[in-house]
Amino acid sequence: VSRVIPVDTFDLVIFGGTGDLARRKILPGLFRRFCAGQMPEDARVIGAARAEMSADEYRSFVADAIREFGGGKSCDDGTLEAFQARLEYVTVDAMGDDGWPEMVKLMDGRDVVRAYYFSVAPSLFGDLASRLHKWELTNDQTRIVVEKPFGRDLVTAKALNASLAEHFDESQIYRIDHYLGKETVQNLMAVRFGNMLFEPLWNSQYVDHIQITVAETVGVGGRGDYYDRSGAMRDMVQNHLMQLLCLIAMEPPSKFDPDAVRDEKLKVIRALDPVAPHHVVRGQYDASGDGPGYREAVEDPRSRTESYVAMKVGISNWRWAGTPFYLRTGKRLVTRSSEISVVFKELNHSIFGEKQDHRNTLSIRLQPNEGITLNVTIKEPGPGGMRLVDVPLDMTFAEALGEDAEDPPDAYERLIMDVIRGNQTLFMRGDEVEAAWAWTDPIIAGWEARGDVPKPYESGSSGPGDAVQMLARDTRVWREVK
Ligand code: NAD
Repeated sequence: VSRVIPVDTFDLVIFGGTGDLARRKILPGLFRRFCAGQMPEDARVIGAARAEMSADEYRSFVADAIREFGGGKSCDDGTLEAFQARLEYVTVDAMGDDGWPEMVKLMDGRDVVRAYYFSVAPSLFGDLASRLHKWELTNDQTRIVVEKPFGRDLVTAKALNASLAEHFDESQIYRIDHYLGKETVQNLMAVRFGNMLFEPLWNSQYVDHIQITVAETVGVGGRGDYYDRSGAMRDMVQNHLMQLLCLIAMEPPSKFDPDAVRDEKLKVIRALDPVAPHHVVRGQYDASGDGPGYREAVEDPRSRTESYVAMKVGISNWRWAGTPFYLRTGKRLVTRSSEISVVFKELNHSIFGEKQDHRNTLSIRLQPNEGITLNVTIKEPGPGGMRLVDVPLDMTFAEALGEDAEDPPDAYERLIMDVIRGNQTLFMRGDEVEAAWAWTDPIIAGWEARGDVPKPYESGSSGPGDAVQMLARDTRVWREVK
């Protein structure tokens, strides 16, 4: 049985179609959807960027990107050729009128879904929006897709929102957070709201605390210049970790409808407590290990930008008051691993005598090996008496669902198809982004006012020791990053 849900035919224009993100994610993702049979007969993908290039040159450029960054199981050279036939290219300048008449010609007379993917620097978002309008390139099925970073604080995010709102309705704007496109993240909602088992326990009465970890092994690499002006708080916490926190903490929406879901997420962000300075640990990786230290990588020996942040976050609402959320993310850590763990409370009485620290933990793994594990306590097999042992009930999809789950669409593929379908559930609404900045801004302003210097941590470690102490003060421990 095919699980590929057909979509309406479309023109997807990628502004920045020659850029790094297009090469690594967007184009290979579209190709995999093509291979899966999800791209209608006359759908087109149109690269639009500053480089002078013919459509044929772009077709070769895209084929190279796909060979480098991967097709899928059902892709071969024949399919690649067929995909190339769907590609067009226009040389266009977002800041001037060059190339726009050609774009108009290319789009003329096609009454199909028009998705414009702004895979360019955010400083060009406003220019693109107004030129699309000026050249009348929009129809009633027009959507625009924008990438992070969506602002660097509340003021800039508001300005970006305003520049888009001048020409587009909120219902046409798709702000990508690729974490929301991950299979497991969506499954988190299925697990919470599709089972009787979890939701009654999903509150401060039964949940001791929640941990969200996004650990990377890579350093800042070639993005030093951008990253040093951003840091882990802006680059990861304000968007990705915040979105994960929202999905974990939100009230059940009345239906699985984009605005119902996003309304509930917004309420979570608005209920976040301000974060006290001693509830945040900032870190910066040092020069140990085989790569340059952070300060070398960004070529600033005095940089105070954090490549790691850990924090204790409270949510002041009926459901969560008293249950801390511990968030941490960083670069050059021991392993690449992203996980959300819901750690339930200990039983208030054990009938088995000995004091045993057994507690249920539900772990949602985003990478590697997307899946969900529930730790339960059972009797240790054998004649040794009633000894308890914790075992994982592993709900890894590849095993449970077989073939279908083995090659699931990646986050970008899924999200792009949602854009074509016109489903905004997994995209951030403007007010959510602004609320997240409103919470983040004072934390960052506090560091700046105090001249806070991040704690150095060893490259390849699990981050600064202060983060461990922060949990130890609460008699808790971080889950092992592995
Ligand atoms: P890039 O520098 O590799 O590519 C930029 C693209 O924009 C090029 O195709 C270039 O031709 C085009 N461009 C630049 N100025 C233009 C103009 N005036 N008119 C028309 N086109 C113009 O950038 P990237 O890494 O592909 O990133 C694109 C966007 O996605 C950025 O907003 C970035 O922050 C965001 N992003 C990138 C990544 C990533 O992994 N690369 C991840 C998340 C978000």
